[in-house]
Amino acid sequence: MMVSERATEIAAKVEAFVREVVIPYEKDPRCGAHGPSDDLVMELREKARAAGVLTPHILPDGSHLTQRETAVVLIRSGLSPLGPLACNTAAPDEGNMYLLGHVASPEQKARFLQPLVSGAARSAFFMTEPANEGGAGSDPSMMKTTCRLDGNHWVINGRKAFITGAEGAKVGIVMAKSDDGACMFLVDLPDPAIRIERVLDTIDSSMPGGHAVVAIENLRVPADQMLGNSGEGFKYAQVRLSPARLSHCMRWLGGCIRANEIATAYACKREAFGKLLVDHEGVGFMLAENLIDIRQAELMIDWCASVLDTGSLGTAESSMAKVAVSEALMRVADRCVQVMGGTGVTRDTIVEQVFREIRAFRIYDGPTEVHKWSLAKKVKRDFLKGHAA
Ligand SMILES: Cc1cc2nc3c(=O)[nH]c(=O)nc-3n(C[C@H](O)[C@H](O)[C@H](O)COP(=O)(O)OP(=O)(O)OC[C@H]3O[C@@H](n4cnc5c(N)ncnc54)[C@H](O)[C@@H]3O)c2cc1C
Repeated sequence: MMVSERATEIAAKVEAFVREVVIPYEKDPRCGAHGPSDDLVMELREKARAAGVLTPHILPDGSHLTQRETAVVLIRSGLSPLGPLACNTAAPDEGNMYLLGHVASPEQKARFLQPLVSGAARSAFFMTEPANEGGAGSDPSMMKTTCRLDGNHWVINGRKAFITGAEGAKVGIVMAKSDDGACMFLVDLPDPAIRIERVLDTIDSSMPGGHAVVAIENLRVPADQMLGNSGEGFKYAQVRLSPARLSHCMRWLGGCIRANEIATAYACKREAFGKLLVDHEGVGFMLAENLIDIRQAELMIDWCASVLDTGSLGTAESSMAKVAVSEALMRVADRCVQVMGGTGVTRDTIVEQVFREIRAFRIYDGPTEVHKWSLAKKVKRDFLKGHAA
């Protein structure tokens, strides 16, 4: 993909850093089932700072690379599951930084955004609620968490689920409903009124703090910590939505490129039935299909990024990209496991982890079916508009 010279240079530096410095940490015992420890993350960030690749997508003046430029950088950071954490391009911080950069007041930016950009703090985004209580999930309008004004404070009550990184985060963005509609609040963490009930045991393991079920009990938030205005929370969620979805596609494309390199090396060295695996058509075809899926994913990301770069919210385009890329990457990851036989399902390489991570990716930031459903609604809307009597 042709992008600017500055993005090409940053991407090359990020790739060299991830390959030379980050990859050797993949076997570090601090990579736990609920994500790498903060101690490990901070050690890697020190190295990223020294290498000049910390938060590489945000420039010293606070402006962001374009989405097309961001893509080439984030794909490289994703070459290791630890890369985005080291470079501070990981979810949910990257999406949260984008949101605060676009919606927060100057005072809010100084207090809540700056520590995220500098890599000193992690953040969490509190939207989803427990399914067994009928709360917000695929349908955010089902939100049950409430906020009401009491003097100069908002009082928030509710329960949240799957809150990535809540354990250990210093900044929280909490969504709740007032009489006006959805609202977003910036909060300092930890806070005794935000109680982590449990960290879920999930299939993935790349995000520090894992994914928590959280009780919010009479949390009092000063009025000036509301992000924007009461009732406009879903509008701000829209601002975050498309770029955050797309950056997941970028990072996990990087993960699959690397998994495919590992599977290719295996197939080009290992023999069965008198010849290299790659020379068996069944294996060669799997690797050929990987190349096709990887290139299609890259082009889809570039196309969606170019739409976002026009200033469009890119809601439909990011839905298409999220479905196409996550489903293509699932096929790639699955083939990588298969090509490597038993080794593919072991933790000897990151292929096994990439497979697990991509499985979860097909659900978060909108399950595939929800994106297809919203696209189908658009198909109908557009048809009816074109055939209005
Ligand atoms: C690893 C991980 C990390 C996450 N991190 C966060 C986080 O940091 N903060 C946060 O707020 N949330 C987070 N989430 C939650 C995530 O956003 C939700 O899981 C997602 O929105 C789906 O909601 P749900 O789990 O309640 O599924 P449900 O709403 O119960 O949906 C279940 C399934 O129903 C189907 N479905 C739903 N609607 C439709 C439709 N209209 N048409 C067809 N099929 C449909 C889909 O197949 C869907 O997968 C995370 C989830 C995961 C797995």
